[in-house]
Amino acid sequence: MSTSAQIGVTGLAVMGSNLARNFARNGYTVAVHNRSAAKTHALIKEHGHEGDFIAAETAKDFVQALERPRRLVVMVKAGGATDAVIEEFAPLLEPGDMIIDGGNAHFADTRRREAALREQGIHFVGAGISGGEEGALNGPSIMPGGPVESYDSLGPMLEKISAKAADGAPCVTHVGPDGAGHFVKMVHNGIEYADMQLIGEAYQLLRDVAGYTPAQIAEIFRTWNTGRLDSYLIEITAEVLAHVDEATGKPFVDVVVDQAEQKGTGRWTVQIALDLGVPVSGIAEAVFARSLSGHAALRDASRSLAGPKATPLSAAEAGAFADRVEQALYASKIVSYTQGFHEIDAARDEYDWNIDLGKVASIWRGGCIIRAAFLDRIRAAYDARPDLPSLLSDETFAQEIAAAQDDWREVLVAATRQGVPTPGFAAALAYYDALRAERLPAALTQGQRDFFGAHTYRRVDREGSFHTLWGQGR
Ligand code: NAP
Repeated sequence: MSTSAQIGVTGLAVMGSNLARNFARNGYTVAVHNRSAAKTHALIKEHGHEGDFIAAETAKDFVQALERPRRLVVMVKAGGATDAVIEEFAPLLEPGDMIIDGGNAHFADTRRREAALREQGIHFVGAGISGGEEGALNGPSIMPGGPVESYDSLGPMLEKISAKAADGAPCVTHVGPDGAGHFVKMVHNGIEYADMQLIGEAYQLLRDVAGYTPAQIAEIFRTWNTGRLDSYLIEITAEVLAHVDEATGKPFVDVVVDQAEQKGTGRWTVQIALDLGVPVSGIAEAVFARSLSGHAALRDASRSLAGPKATPLSAAEAGAFADRVEQALYASKIVSYTQGFHEIDAARDEYDWNIDLGKVASIWRGGCIIRAAFLDRIRAAYDARPDLPSLLSDETFAQEIAAAQDDWREVLVAATRQGVPTPGFAAALAYYDALRAERLPAALTQGQRDFFGAHTYRRVDREGSFHTLWGQGR
């Protein structure tokens, strides 16, 4: 068995085989392995001509095929399968070797695995990979964590196979230690949920309030995609809306069951945000909107509940309304990203991760699902001021929201009057208004807590904790 492979990939389902092909197409010799050898043979048969592959049937052959320090990429089902693979390979490795987990692992698992392997001198790199199967083949956005030394030899390889942003910068950076990479990938997915929900709400408003057809809305999205909303998700939304079902001749979107599924990373983003005490209301609404859509029996039982029926605007009014929806969508999007970056910022403090938020925005500019022109502006905001307390503190974003807010409010008034659910737009505006409020009703909450539980409160005019003897003297 030759020992010349610079990298190895084990787990050759769609993501692993595409990643292995990407390495090979970029000139690396790639050792490939899969639990069941059939996938290894299929990869060599179909794509062996694309580059230098070394097919290994056993774990031992696979490890022996790798030059030292060994770089072993694991692309298997996240969870127990990753532990099983680590258990199989770790005893065959030597200090200084690297295991790179490119699956969608929970960052807490990555922290656990990194700590255990560190004991054996093995570098464990939890690397978030975004962009789906197409990204894995042609250039994903890669978010590696783990020991920074590992990036010295691994980084240049990842930079070669990664997506490149419009300015040519590779969409990969060493995000931070242990689970930082998988954490950032998780928040990326949470933001993706919020983006998709907001786009969905814009679609429904254009359909039910403005009265446009899916084909007309596709055109509106295409126009938006030439402006500040320019992004992969807006682009594919236009494609989906323009698509006509061959069997029925109906718009594709009308023949699809309106129940959205989820794999879990959006839910994790919200669960961790609750633990960290970070308000990610826009992402949470997006996760809940998917859950609600799936409650078919509850929805069936509720269809007769009272409420207004949306009555479409006149053609003359519809165009102006569409412009307002664009403003509402853009303002709400700024809020989702503000919340997502706040979560990363809070984790940075909690876990002592030295994450550069500007770099995170930078590596999301290409390859990944949320790639967008907008991320260049977020990068610029953090580059100009790395200690920015919130994206909304950036002057440019604050000015844009100020300019959008009248329309944002009008859109929500129309949605409420016409009974069109817009939880994402509404949560984003409530977050914005809560942040700018002079006083919040939290003062009353503190009074209630002190009343029933003697939890004490702080005063605006004096230092210290206070308790009132409630009910006395009534
Ligand atoms: P997948 O369906 O998640 O996993 C299938 C692979 O895992 C197969 O190679 C399978 O081997 C292997 N596997 C399962 N249990 C195993 C075990 N106990 N021991 C060893 N190998 C085991 O594959 P995928 O869709 O290509 O995704 C791979 C990883 O990338 C996952 O963590 C996924 O979450 C992540 N990811 C996926 C996407 C995407 O768009 N699909 C995007 C980003 C990240 P056998 O062939 O022997 O069954």
